[in-house]
Amino acid sequence: MLTLERELLDDLEVGELAVEYDPRDPEEVLEWAIRRFGVERFGIITSFQADGCALIDMAHQIHRKVRVITIDTGRMPQEQYDIIDDFRARYGIEVEVFSPDTEAVETMTRRHGVNLFRQSVEKRMLCCHVRKVLPLNRALRDLDCWATGLRRDQWATRANIRKIELDHDHGGIVKINPLADWTEEEVWDYLREYHVPIHPLYAQGFNSLGCLPCTRPVAEGEPSRNGRWWWESNAPKECGMHCSIETGGFEHEVAAILGNGHRN
Ligand code: SF4
Repeated sequence: MLTLERELLDDLEVGELAVEYDPRDPEEVLEWAIRRFGVERFGIITSFQADGCALIDMAHQIHRKVRVITIDTGRMPQEQYDIIDDFRARYGIEVEVFSPDTEAVETMTRRHGVNLFRQSVEKRMLCCHVRKVLPLNRALRDLDCWATGLRRDQWATRANIRKIELDHDHGGIVKINPLADWTEEEVWDYLREYHVPIHPLYAQGFNSLGCLPCTRPVAEGEPSRNGRWWWESNAPKECGMHCSIETGGFEHEVAAILGNGHRN
């Protein structure tokens, strides 16, 4: 099979681009990425939260064939599958759904049980690693640039994200966060203005969407990430998809579950 050589940028170039594009609108950042890398080597990775949905709409207006990629962890609520279908129907796009490695999931659940995420922070991160991070790594293998709906005001770990970054956790490809300086209100204004499909769980009080057993509604005014892994204290409200989390507690388990070859 022909493997395309990746187009990698260096830190200096990306640093300059980050400064140049920081005051620009999300559409300009998306346009730059699609033009620079081509629609085949660029993808939006989304869980269909409001931010990601706005990005899809913007990108689709720039290029009808924009790639939309999502991770099906195997623990998603039915509404997650419904919103995927809504986007397929509305935009006429293929949504690329990546799933975890069956063997890795089976080994993990045989060792620790199907609800291992309740046992400790390390086991929750192990589950996120097997079900989310590894499929993401696979999805990113044939991309030179990916887009996320991350915003700086979502959580402390996201406060310093730039609109254009180098993603050293994924081979030095480019990661863009076009909505970095948007507020939640701006995202919702956009969705209403362009009649973008909205994930049905928002109407039930959810404000951050994810796996069924690890996500719950939050009270009005409460930070949205509070609805994730609410039983944990002093643990990052991150799953490792957007920043590497090293605790020393689960990495050896990942290696054991995946074998010496460490498939990812
Ligand atoms: Fe596992 Fe929960 Fe992470 Fe989903 S969010 S991958 S169920 S720990």
